[in-house]
Amino acid sequence: MAARKLLTPGMRLVVASHNPGKLREISGLLAPFGVEAVSAGALGIPEPDETGATFEENALLKAEASAKASGLPALSDDSGLCVAALDNAPGIFSARWAGPGKDFSLAMKRVENELRAKGLETSPAHFVCVLALAFPDAPPQIFRGEVHGTVSFPPRGKNGFGYDPIFTATGMHETFGEMEPARKHAMSHRAEAFRKLVTALA
Ligand code: IMP
Repeated sequence: MAARKLLTPGMRLVVASHNPGKLREISGLLAPFGVEAVSAGALGIPEPDETGATFEENALLKAEASAKASGLPALSDDSGLCVAALDNAPGIFSARWAGPGKDFSLAMKRVENELRAKGLETSPAHFVCVLALAFPDAPPQIFRGEVHGTVSFPPRGKNGFGYDPIFTATGMHETFGEMEPARKHAMSHRAEAFRKLVTALA
């Protein structure tokens, strides 16, 4: 069943995130459909532990927890970097590799060290973003976006966040950290997942 049958103008939808940046981004996306986004944080819904083994499982468990607690449809996302030569690590552990201080220079160094331990300086890699839309009384919908490229060192560029300074998309010369934010946003894994969601809702 198409998601649009389940999302109607005037409906409230919970964004299953306590991150104000994500709420802003998702609110803007849903505004054309007349759907009002409220954050799980504003409704006092706690964030569940990310105990899933895949991006899909983690996105679903966040969205389903919010849908269940609020009785409203809920949208969540889960994302990360998968490095081919490291068996797709850090993957769902991308945020956790940065440690409690959320220090991504440490996380990027770990990627570099683990590649060097295998005698490698670079590897194919891809970013993943999974959006999950859960309903209190209907099956969930899942949208996955990916962008493929290479990781290389040293990190380059001060734009973006997370692993952007070590990732170069296929066919590009600049890392995501060097690229103009608007150019990155147009080609990113998140953009692709959002496009699929918008297509399903439109
Ligand atoms: P979560 O989806 O909030 O669990 O976090 C995913 C983690 O993956 C982020 O903390 C980033 O480190 C990394 N990540 C996801 N998307 C990107 C991106 O577009 N650029 C750089 N790092 C990203």
